[in-house]
Amino acid sequence: MIPERADFAVIGTGPSGCMSAGLLAKAGFDVVMLERDVHPRNTVGENMIPDFWKFTDMIGASEDIKKAGFVTKRGGRVHWDGQVERLAFRDFGYERPGLHVDRDEFDSILVRHAQRLGARLFENVTVRKVDFGEERQSVRYDTADGPGQISVRYVIDASGQGGLLARQLGTRVTNPDFRFMAFWGYFENSRYYDYDGVSYPHSMIQDVPCVTTQVSLTEGDHIGWAWHIPLRKSTSVGCVLLRETVVKLKQNFDNWEDRFEHLVGNEPVLQHLLENATLIDRKFHFINNFSGHSAQIAGPGFFQVGDAAGFFDPIFSIGVTLGLYSGSLAAWFAAECVRKPQNVARYQTYFNRQMLGRIELARGIALPHYASSPLQEDRASQTLRFTSDNGMDLLKSAAKMPKRASNLDRLLI
Ligand SMILES: Cc1cc2nc3c(=O)[nH]c(=O)nc-3n(C[C@H](O)[C@H](O)[C@H](O)COP(=O)(O)OP(=O)(O)OC[C@H]3O[C@@H](n4cnc5c(N)ncnc54)[C@H](O)[C@@H]3O)c2cc1C
Repeated sequence: MIPERADFAVIGTGPSGCMSAGLLAKAGFDVVMLERDVHPRNTVGENMIPDFWKFTDMIGASEDIKKAGFVTKRGGRVHWDGQVERLAFRDFGYERPGLHVDRDEFDSILVRHAQRLGARLFENVTVRKVDFGEERQSVRYDTADGPGQISVRYVIDASGQGGLLARQLGTRVTNPDFRFMAFWGYFENSRYYDYDGVSYPHSMIQDVPCVTTQVSLTEGDHIGWAWHIPLRKSTSVGCVLLRETVVKLKQNFDNWEDRFEHLVGNEPVLQHLLENATLIDRKFHFINNFSGHSAQIAGPGFFQVGDAAGFFDPIFSIGVTLGLYSGSLAAWFAAECVRKPQNVARYQTYFNRQMLGRIELARGIALPHYASSPLQEDRASQTLRFTSDNGMDLLKSAAKMPKRASNLDRLLI
């Protein structure tokens, strides 16, 4: 049964929520995780840059992630408007690999470790609202047995794209420059590329390391793009499209299989990889309006983490790692808020500033053409100044690949 009181309620158990819950429980707090779904549950975002390991180390999950045998990747190959660029993580000093993970299993490992550290998990629980008080917050939820509430000192909102608190507080900001939707499916028998651009059948995936392949799409003038992410048993292939492109595709083709075939038909790289591939269950998945952030990421009684704080664009595959980072940062600040209540306002300001800087940086490098307010650009520039040399080199190389280098240069001035 869900208790009536706890120190912290974490809403949502994706990577960011598990990170906060695990670290707060490890620090000795009473933590309750409320999850609308039931693990294992699938979600988008399978491509992991190697930075994620340092966070999974913190909650003791790395060994189980290794044991799961997820596909290891050496880096990425980007085919952008006729040019090919490639990148290998080891050239940037990484000793551990990037991974292509099946998110249902990856997230289940994280939630198991948050539980092992002492956080209590309640699934099939949908949080509806938080009533904020002076000292304690009342989290209202629905279960199959009816509504209930739990009183906590702090709420960590890790509700992902739903952004529960940002919507409740009216702080969610969407960006008119981002007019993308994405759709994706899982394919059997797709070939894949290694770092040198030699292609292999999927059956070799555990023998010859793959790369993530990204291809800009001719349809939509190379602003939209496709990902190709080999997993253990299938390959995730998806397209990120401008809404204008979607309108045009809908006018010309009756269904998504035909629209997909048309997009792929323009791209020899994808045609080659998918030549003998079949779409599993003939099923595509869709996500709209995934770009936006909260203008206030921490405040009296709450912290927002992961996509609930902000997410812009999957082009650099940093969403999960940013979620883990923000989950760990929020855990530290939230714990300090309880221990040193006299510093609460200062901690909330630091967290807000840190997160808004990261989010603006993510926005800056993701947009095809970037310009922002001087304050926001300054936040992103400051965040860059705290990036390690290796991290900066990787960022510069990655930004060059899909032609976003000028955005980064602008922030580095
Ligand atoms: C098209 C696309 C492709 C992407 N590709 C990548 C990629 O390759 N690599 C990468 O790193 N990132 C990628 N991302 C980003 C990545 O998916 C997210 O950044 C990441 O999953 C965010 O984790 P999270 O913990 O914040 O939220 P989520 O993983 O979304 O978890 C949120 C959880 O909250 C629960 N929840 C929601 N509302 C409630 C409620 N009211 N009550 C209780 N529970 C609730 C949900 O059920 C869910 O379990 C991609 C994103 C998109 C849109």
